[in-house]
Amino acid sequence: MPTFSVAIVGAGPAGYFAAQALQNAQSEDRTFAIDMIERLPTPWGLVRSGVAPDHPKIKTVSKVFEKIATAGNFRLFGNVELGTDVQLSDLQAKYDAVIIATGTSIGRKLGITGEDLRGYLSAADFVPWYNAHPDYTQVDVPLETDTAIVIGAGNVAMDVARMLALEPSELDPTDTAHHAIAALKKSSIRKVYICARRGAENAAFTSPELRDLPKLEHTNVVMHKTDIDAAIAAAGDSPEKDVKSNLDAMLAIAEHEKTNHARTMEFLFHHVPTEIKGTDRVQEVVFKTPAGERVIKCSLIISAIGYEAQPLNGLTYEKGKVLNTDGRVKDNLYVVGWAKRGPSGVIGTNKSDAAAVIELLIADLKSPKAAGDINDLIGAHKVITQSHWEAINNAEVSSGEPLGKPRIKVADKSELLRLGGL
Ligand code: NAP
Repeated sequence: MPTFSVAIVGAGPAGYFAAQALQNAQSEDRTFAIDMIERLPTPWGLVRSGVAPDHPKIKTVSKVFEKIATAGNFRLFGNVELGTDVQLSDLQAKYDAVIIATGTSIGRKLGITGEDLRGYLSAADFVPWYNAHPDYTQVDVPLETDTAIVIGAGNVAMDVARMLALEPSELDPTDTAHHAIAALKKSSIRKVYICARRGAENAAFTSPELRDLPKLEHTNVVMHKTDIDAAIAAAGDSPEKDVKSNLDAMLAIAEHEKTNHARTMEFLFHHVPTEIKGTDRVQEVVFKTPAGERVIKCSLIISAIGYEAQPLNGLTYEKGKVLNTDGRVKDNLYVVGWAKRGPSGVIGTNKSDAAAVIELLIADLKSPKAAGDINDLIGAHKVITQSHWEAINNAEVSSGEPLGKPRIKVADKSELLRLGGL
């Protein structure tokens, strides 16, 4: 029976779902030997370093990832970086197919003046900071004044705004990075504006996230009824199902009884940012609104307006994605997830997306190369295998237990290697 070797680069949801699709496609005539390569010593991608820590249910998908990883014919090569420790062309020469699943890690720019000032951050830096990503522990997040502004009307903007507007002790039972909980407990921010450039009928939030907002116990959530009424009118008599469901959830927020907590999260629609002003740091943002110019003073601005892929050697990019046709890149190279289709969709979207790419990949297979594997390329490099990762995982979970946390994430790479036994 032929065994085809497949390297998957990137251990996030798209990578795991690609591995699962390969496992599901095994038959009496064909098996796959899957090697997953990840530059960090820890797998799970955005499930570890993106999903908001106050939404632990979303992270339960990691159980599926671990099932895939232990189903056989699967090896993890963590702490191995493509372009540094191993080259794409070498992988292509060794494996029958190589799948890029490296996501989109760079925050898109607004393209207005002032983005270089201290106090302007992208969600692409802020989110991994509070999630203990090893590369983002030193991000400078100034939290010393009253007001923060989040730009964007998607679920990432909402996660970011919630993290800033929550009573920080609510994060104690979560796996938020220690350094972030400590900084947020000292934060002076009491008012967080979420600024959408279009009306509520065009917001990219999803309704389950909106419906969760009134459950916040220590934060006033403010949506103006006039904005939502205008959006309902603009959406017309037969809005799409998602739009209707969003507007219903927003109306419920707008009509929710007023609360009087110290912290407020307020939604502003039709606010187009045109300039960020400040001398050495952010002091105010200028917005174009239907009523004219509006200036809001603040010391922190976080833009959550989408992501682009970090370019890798040997790949061509277009509009922040790897140039591809339905996931086929060139020769035996494929791409899945956000690197393929851009930063849209929830974690589960990657399942059907990866399955479709794997169908094409299988259609392209001829006979196995049997040309060796990544072990021939990396020599004595320190590799985090699945069993090393399991040791790290157990250590993090055990250290969280006495504190009632799901885990205490370790952000230091050498400490992660040590916990793995390397
Ligand atoms: P998104 O859903 O595409 O939202 C991006 C937002 O940025 C849109 O409101 C967009 O407005 C706005 N925007 C873009 N360019 C802008 C500009 N120049 N000025 C002002 N606003 C601008 O992206 P995301 O929030 O990064 O989320 C990515 C994906 O992950 C989404 O599919 C999301 O649902 C998913 N996600 C899900 C969860 C969850 O399920 N809990 C959590 C986080 C993320 P326009 O519409 O006007 O362009």
